[in-house]
Amino acid sequence: MKKYNFNAGPCILDRSVIEKTAQAILDFNGIGLSLAEISHRSKDFQPVIDEAEALVKELLQVPEGYSVLFLGGGASLEFCMIPYNFLKTKAAYLNTGVWAKKAMKEAKLFGEVVEVASSADANYTFIPKGWECPTDVDYLHITTNNTIYGTEIRKDLDVPVRMIADMSSDIFSRPIDVAKYDAIYAGAQKNLSMAGVTIVIVKNDALGHVDRQIPTMLDYRTHVEKGSMFNTPPVVPIYTALENLRWMKAQGGVEAMDKLAQQRAEIVYGEIDRNKLFRGTVAEEDRSVMNLCFVMKDEYKELEKEFMEFATSKGMVGIKGHRSVGGFRASCYNAQSIEGCQALVACMKEFEAQH
Ligand SMILES: *Cc1c(COP(=O)(O)O)cnc(C)c1O
Repeated sequence: MKKYNFNAGPCILDRSVIEKTAQAILDFNGIGLSLAEISHRSKDFQPVIDEAEALVKELLQVPEGYSVLFLGGGASLEFCMIPYNFLKTKAAYLNTGVWAKKAMKEAKLFGEVVEVASSADANYTFIPKGWECPTDVDYLHITTNNTIYGTEIRKDLDVPVRMIADMSSDIFSRPIDVAKYDAIYAGAQKNLSMAGVTIVIVKNDALGHVDRQIPTMLDYRTHVEKGSMFNTPPVVPIYTALENLRWMKAQGGVEAMDKLAQQRAEIVYGEIDRNKLFRGTVAEEDRSVMNLCFVMKDEYKELEKEFMEFATSKGMVGIKGHRSVGGFRASCYNAQSIEGCQALVACMKEFEAQH
């Protein structure tokens, strides 16, 4: 039976990206050695990281004066590296979910944190609006896509200070105006690669303004100066990222990814709204096109387990909602096919007809 992968992360990658990675692990570029057993400083690997960096710059139209880094530690390490490198006295954070809260917790170790707004009281079912960003902060931190709750800020905000964004789960799914940000970071395992590498796009001028001592590995300047080669970078996930970047470019870049995301969302949200059994969990205007969350309507609550089993029997994988939301979550990252979304919709319709 064909499996449709709706996992929230690590998650779906295009089959060709997986196959090329597998091939490179067996025999890299026909050199008779595995990608996993050659030096990261070799003439064979250097072009991989160079091309990956160039493609990130090309696809996101990264302006001059920014560096693209490939680091370890996941997005979670960035929660600490960001304030370490950028927070002088005070930073503003928009609290839109668990990941934002974790980022705030780390920032509090380095200075004052102003929570500009929060939707915690409503279990993060919307993106707070109408808040004001203080002007005396070092930066405003936002989480563009809230993977767990299925809300998204799908535009580059206009605020009076520099922004720093956790784009772990929606980077490369739309064009972004990088110039508005001092830093953008993303754990790769949701829209870029397999787990193990974190991409950071950082404005060079914005570094070096804090007085504190920064441990070498946690100082972005180390990685800027050494082209992400201060120590051994995660070579295999970087290679997978390269193959995925090539794939995205061949599909038409982030504009094409954006269009596909809108199409997938229309198909799935359309059915959530039409089907008598289901309802979406978040404010319509804040719906994520990456993580589509829904539950059974109250009067059908007892069917939840049955639908889960039914969907699984039809090949749907990973649609169980996060425990803090319940219900279902269909993650539709870049490699998710329209066919996959149609299969999910067919499954929802068939289940409805049976009840
Ligand atoms: C998954 C996720 C993280 C955590 O990423 P790790 O790489 O596992 O540390 C952080 N932020 C967002 C928005 C995420 O979706």
